[in-house]
Amino acid sequence: MLPKYHFYIGLITSIVVYFISGFTNALLFFIGSFLIDTDHYIAFVFKEKNWSLMKSYFYWKYLNYPYDELMIFHTIEIWILLLIIGLLINPVLFMLAGMLYHELFDIYDMHKRKLFNARAISLFAWATRNLK
Ligand SMILES: [Zn+2]
Repeated sequence: MLPKYHFYIGLITSIVVYFISGFTNALLFFIGSFLIDTDHYIAFVFKEKNWSLMKSYFYWKYLNYPYDELMIFHTIEIWILLLIIGLLINPVLFMLAGMLYHELFDIYDMHKRKLFNARAISLFAWATRNLK
């Protein structure tokens, strides 16, 4: 799903969170729901050895969505880590909720585009397949 859709969906839902739970939690929800995709940029920099944000955008938009791609913030280990931190620092749970909310739209979009197994869901499983 394109970043602009995540931005609008995250923003609208964050406004709802603001009225339920306040500014800080709404901001963390928005950060989780939108900035989770910074891992696409990180993956692009590692793969292409290029720091261009625009090239990264078009790379993922048009060129490549290969098999078993690692997007670190979209992995279950990061979510479990945030859950543990969130149990100690409760507002972190709102960031995790935003990330999981984002993931719902990613799953819907990837299913619609028939991108099955395009992205690793587990950092550990990805590492055992790819790091030797
Ligand atoms: Zn995403």
